[in-house]
Amino acid sequence: MLFNMETQAQITSAMHAPGAVLLISCYELGHRPIGLIRPLQSLKAAGFAPDVIDIAVEPLDTEKVAQARFIGISVPMHTALRLGVHLVHRIRQINRDVSVCMYGLYATLNADYLLSHGVDFCIANTESRELIGLIESLGKKKQITTDDNGISVGKLSPLEVYAQFEDVGEKRIVGYTETTHGCKHLCTHCPIPPIYNGKFSVIDRDTVLAEIQEQVSQGATHITFGDPDFLNGPMHGLRILRAMHDAFPNLTFDFTTKVEHILKHRKHFPEFAQLGCRFIISAVESLSDTVLTVLEKHHTRDDVKTALDIVHGAGIALRPTWVPFTPWTTLDDYLEILQFVDTHRLGYHVDPVQYAVRLLIPPGSYLLNRPETKVLSLTLDEAAFSYTWVHSDVRMDELHKTVNTLVENDVRAGVDTLETFYRIWALATDMQHSSRHTPLYRSKEAHPPAPRITEAWFC
Ligand code: SF4
Repeated sequence: MLFNMETQAQITSAMHAPGAVLLISCYELGHRPIGLIRPLQSLKAAGFAPDVIDIAVEPLDTEKVAQARFIGISVPMHTALRLGVHLVHRIRQINRDVSVCMYGLYATLNADYLLSHGVDFCIANTESRELIGLIESLGKKKQITTDDNGISVGKLSPLEVYAQFEDVGEKRIVGYTETTHGCKHLCTHCPIPPIYNGKFSVIDRDTVLAEIQEQVSQGATHITFGDPDFLNGPMHGLRILRAMHDAFPNLTFDFTTKVEHILKHRKHFPEFAQLGCRFIISAVESLSDTVLTVLEKHHTRDDVKTALDIVHGAGIALRPTWVPFTPWTTLDDYLEILQFVDTHRLGYHVDPVQYAVRLLIPPGSYLLNRPETKVLSLTLDEAAFSYTWVHSDVRMDELHKTVNTLVENDVRAGVDTLETFYRIWALATDMQHSSRHTPLYRSKEAHPPAPRITEAWFC
């Protein structure tokens, strides 16, 4: 059928009506969700009028759900996926016929389960193209005539409702962006390699700078660069930082990078500091050679010490993250992590939740290819989106449970981070019936404060 230009402009798919496409984010570690920001922009540019809900900071608007024809649920991490599955049940009660798509890293890893539990489509959505293509193809199935001129209804929550940057006597509103997709490394425990297979791509500099500018105009005074690893393309990142600093000299920032990259790109750290870098997150995970080999982290205990010297030497705080409970971590290894934190006076550089992190092995994980994993008796718990494992030393599983409970209770009660740290230490030494590991710096004064985002980082 042929239409003249004017008629053609009025005929549009039902998906183009305001609110017909609804994007929902479940959880992104307390920052404004990039899983909404980027698809929202791309869908608007493609002529849609999407709406958005971030259930981490606002209630589920049932009216929006009821009028949607397509709902995309962003699941970039395990916690978001678990919340997303509950959400699908609620959505189906409100709007039985809506097309539901899960998108993000954890959607494709768990597609088998999701597609048989109420989800119609699962896509990785590494850039927004796949999502738009899907919505366009669904829209073509049903066309309507509408007077809608593509007015957008999507509005993200204000930055003030998200986690803030905090340092001594200082609070900052945080904006969020990413300069790259994927990662060129293949750490076995990470959910990124099964999707990106060692590839990464850069996001156009102007896109990133426009996102920063937009968030600064909304009050952001600190930017979190949430790239899987900001230094996969160090010069790309550096050019963006220089341009950002020229435009907004008082803006501060943080990013995440691996220990190996800190050593390799050490010459850039003084400049990062001068450009406003306040802290760096680095996935140290363990100090045990055995565990680091299984996880294919490509760093050693000595490298971690060198990384600390480089970052702290530049006047930037290093916030290490840990995976202290794995099938290969011994009680001595666990205590060694605590001792390292104490010796290097990092008590306030580590969020207590880090001492309770237990290795997740999701379907498709590269860990499943490791000989050390193949000898374990693993059972896939589909509904938990992970293989279950037990430690050969029963004390480790017991310690995990007690540390987990302690951290939850202490965080809820607002107990000081250092106090919690030494309580964990006491639990671990009790478990070992030994005082071989003794704290050196058991006082608040000995542990310098560290800048942080008020929502703890974990994966
Ligand atoms: S853990 Fe970090 S460096 Fe390793 S694959 Fe994942 S994102 Fe890349």
